[in-house]
Amino acid sequence: MLWSLFKIILFVVLVAALAFGAGMLIETDAALRVAFGGWEFTLKPLQAVIVGALLLVAVWLFIKLLGLLLAVIKFISGDETAISRYFNRNRERRGFKALADGMMALASGDGREAIAKATKAQRLLNRPELTNLLTAQAAELAGDRRKATETYKALLQDDRTRFVGVRGLMKQKLADGDKDTALQLAKKAFALKPAHEDTQDVLLRLQAEHADWAGARRTLSAKLKHGSLTRDVHKRRDAVLALSEAKDVLDDGKSIEAREAAIEANRLSPDLIPAAVMAARGYVENGKPRYANRVLKKAWAARPHPDLAAAFAAIEPDETPTQRLARFTKFVAGTEGDSETRMLLTELHIAAEDFPAARKALGDLPETEPTARSLTLMAAVERGSGSDDAVVRGWLARALTAPRGPQWICDNCGTVHAEWGPVCSNCSAFDTLAWKEAPAGDLALTNNAAGMLPLIVGALEHHEEEIEEVEPVEVITDEPGPEVRPDVPPEEVDEVETTDTPEDEVKSA
Ligand SMILES: [Zn+2]
Repeated sequence: MLWSLFKIILFVVLVAALAFGAGMLIETDAALRVAFGGWEFTLKPLQAVIVGALLLVAVWLFIKLLGLLLAVIKFISGDETAISRYFNRNRERRGFKALADGMMALASGDGREAIAKATKAQRLLNRPELTNLLTAQAAELAGDRRKATETYKALLQDDRTRFVGVRGLMKQKLADGDKDTALQLAKKAFALKPAHEDTQDVLLRLQAEHADWAGARRTLSAKLKHGSLTRDVHKRRDAVLALSEAKDVLDDGKSIEAREAAIEANRLSPDLIPAAVMAARGYVENGKPRYANRVLKKAWAARPHPDLAAAFAAIEPDETPTQRLARFTKFVAGTEGDSETRMLLTELHIAAEDFPAARKALGDLPETEPTARSLTLMAAVERGSGSDDAVVRGWLARALTAPRGPQWICDNCGTVHAEWGPVCSNCSAFDTLAWKEAPAGDLALTNNAAGMLPLIVGALEHHEEEIEEVEPVEVITDEPGPEVRPDVPPEEVDEVETTDTPEDEVKSA
C-alpha cells in the first residue's frame, strides 16, 4: 500500500521534471556548437537531443554489426560454431515465442493452431521433451488421435516425460475400453510415480475390475503411505478387498486360504456385514460354530442385517422352528427395539405357528415403517390368525406399493444389487454399495410382487382351512431368507434370490 503510493508519487514527480526540462530546452537561447573536421554545426537544444538519440542508435547498430563481424572472423579462422551460435540465439528466441504462442492457442481451445505452433517450435528449438508435451495436448484437443498416440510414444523416450507418455496412452486405452492394456500401462505409471493420486485411483479401479484383489490391496497401502487416504477409509476398503480376495479363493475351492482371508477381513472391520458372514461360514466349515456365533452376534449388535440372520440360521440347518426361535432369541438380545430384529422375530414366530406372538413382535411396525416386508408379514400374521381374506388382501395390496426397505444400493449410480459385491455391476465404482433405502418414488418391488399376486390370492382361495399354507405366503416376501424355511437348503435360496435380479427391475421401472 505504502509502496504503491510511493511509486505513484515518484511517477508524478518524474513526469513533472521531464515537462519542466523540455520547456527549458525549448525556451533557452543557448546553442551547441560542434566542430567536426572542416565542418561546423550549430545545434539548438532540441536538435541536440535528437542528434544524441540518433547517435545512441548508431552505436547500438555498430556493436551488433561488430558482433556479427567477429563471428564471421572466428568462423573463417576455424571456429565453425561461432556464426551458427550467433544465429542460434535468434532461432531460440523465435522458438520460445512459437512455444508460448502454442500454449496460448491451447489455453484458448484452438487445437489446430497449437499443433502448428508446436511444430514450428520443434523446428526452431529441437527440444522434443518440451514441444511434444504441447503437441500431445494440442492433438488431444483437436481430436487427432493418431498424432496424439504418436506423440505419447515419443514422450516415452525421455526419462523426464515418460510418465506423461504412459498416462496419455493409458487414458486413450481407457477411452477405447481396452482395459487389459490400460491396466498394464497404469501399473507402469504407478511404478514411475507411486505418489500420483489420480494414477493410484485409476489403477485401483482397474485392479478391482480385473478382480486382482492382492494387487488392489498393495495399491491401497501405497495410497495410505502417500497420504491420499485416511486411515479409517483404508481400513474399511482393505477389509472389502480382503473379503473379495476370500470370495475369489472360495470360488477356486481353496477353502483354507479363503477362510483365513475372510477372518482377516472380519478382524479389521467387525461391523462389515459381508465380512462377518464370510468369516462365520469359514468357522462353520472349520467345525467351530461357537466362533461363528460370536462373530455374527457381534456384527448383529453393531448393525442388524438379514444377511447376518441368514448366516446365523445356517449354523444349525436341521433344527425345528421352536429350537430356532429359542436360539435366535438369545442371538438378538439387546437389539429388541430394532425394526430388523422385530421383523426377524415375527418371521420366526410365524414359522413356529405362534401367531399371537408374531403379532406382538411385529407391533406397530406396519404403521410406523410400512415397507413391503413389514406389510407382507402383517398379511401373513392376519392369515395365520384366521382373519378375513379381505383383511389379508388389504395388507398385501398395501405391500405392493410400499417402499422396498433397505437394499444394497450403489452410492454412485443408484443401482440395486441382490448381493453385496466390492464393485458396482453397473458403473464399476469400487466400494460404493451401501445398505440403504431406495430413493422415494422408486417402486422397484411393483413388478416383482405384481407377478406374484395371483399366487398369493390363489393360495388364499384354495387352502382356506390349512394353516400350513401360510408358508407360500411367506415365500413372496423373498426377504425372510433361509432362517424361516428350514426345509430349503441355502443353495436353493441363492437361486431364488438371483433369479429376480433387481437390475432388471430398475431398468423396467
Ligand atoms: Zn454404481
